[in-house]
Amino acid sequence: MQTNIINGREVAAALQQEVAREVEAIRVRDGSAPKLAVILVGEDPASQIYVRNKSRMCGKLGILQDTILLPDTATTGQVMQKVEELNRDKSVNGILVQLPLPGQIDENKVTQSIDPLKDVDGFHIANAGKLLMGIDGEFVSCTAEGIMELIRRTGYDLDGAVCAVIGRSSTVGRPVSMMLQRQNATVIMCHSHTRNLKELLRQADVVVSAVGKPDLIDGSMIKEGALIIDAGISRVGGHLAGDVDMQSCMGRAGYITPVPGGVGPMTIIMLMKNCLKAYYLQQQMQAGQ
Ligand code: NAP
Repeated sequence: MQTNIINGREVAAALQQEVAREVEAIRVRDGSAPKLAVILVGEDPASQIYVRNKSRMCGKLGILQDTILLPDTATTGQVMQKVEELNRDKSVNGILVQLPLPGQIDENKVTQSIDPLKDVDGFHIANAGKLLMGIDGEFVSCTAEGIMELIRRTGYDLDGAVCAVIGRSSTVGRPVSMMLQRQNATVIMCHSHTRNLKELLRQADVVVSAVGKPDLIDGSMIKEGALIIDAGISRVGGHLAGDVDMQSCMGRAGYITPVPGGVGPMTIIMLMKNCLKAYYLQQQMQAGQ
């Protein structure tokens, strides 16, 4: 069997062009542009890189961006106060608080203080709740949305497909499982307490792995022709590795995402798309619609 490699970089590049064109059209029409505000607390090197990447991508696509730096001694109240200022600021369309936050800060309180209409990460319970209730919401997690976009682009029919999702975090596994169910897939949720992962995976037409354990899945565990989406990212000897041993899946999987270059590039472009969505939502609010 021929295994098709899903090129996330290519898909993300095409989406970047679409977003840049739309931002330019807004600039010409409204004389303004969507704006993302990012709060970074402390000096965690990985978080600094993520924030820098988001800022660069905004610049590339014409989205305005502000990074607000707070010291690693900041309290929950101080971060929430900043969020509330940004909630009130009409020039800001999207707000993102870079996670994780230093231990003394209540991450949940901070995330839930973001205006749901500016919640471009989709972590507010108003947005997550809509996904749970099957109501079209404003925002869903960017990684989950990126995974669904990659599946959509393969043309794979999810209706009635058995999908195994490994990992149940509120940022990746859980929202993906709900989005798959909305497409009429039958979802098997797997996690660290799951018995017989191999047996379950061998029934799955689609596997989405979001764990962060290199080589958790190999070719002997998957069904012939399965579509494999690997969201896992681990650092192994200076290289990035996914959850799936890709080599052993070649010739057995129907489709597979590489790491790096699969799900990774999709997350940031989905964030940019959410900034556009936030801009339109606030335009509608201001127009009293
Ligand atoms: P997380 O919150 O740590 O969740 C990991 C999940 O994996 C948990 O549900 C855990 O089960 C499950 N798990 C752990 N060991 C397992 C095992 N042996 N078998 C089956 N399930 C197991 O992580 P996350 O934030 O969802 O991220 C998951 C991975 O995706 C990480 O590698 C992360 O770097 C990556 N990620 C990538 C992107 C991207 O842009 N590509 C974005 C976000 C995350 P329990 O619930 O039972 O503990």
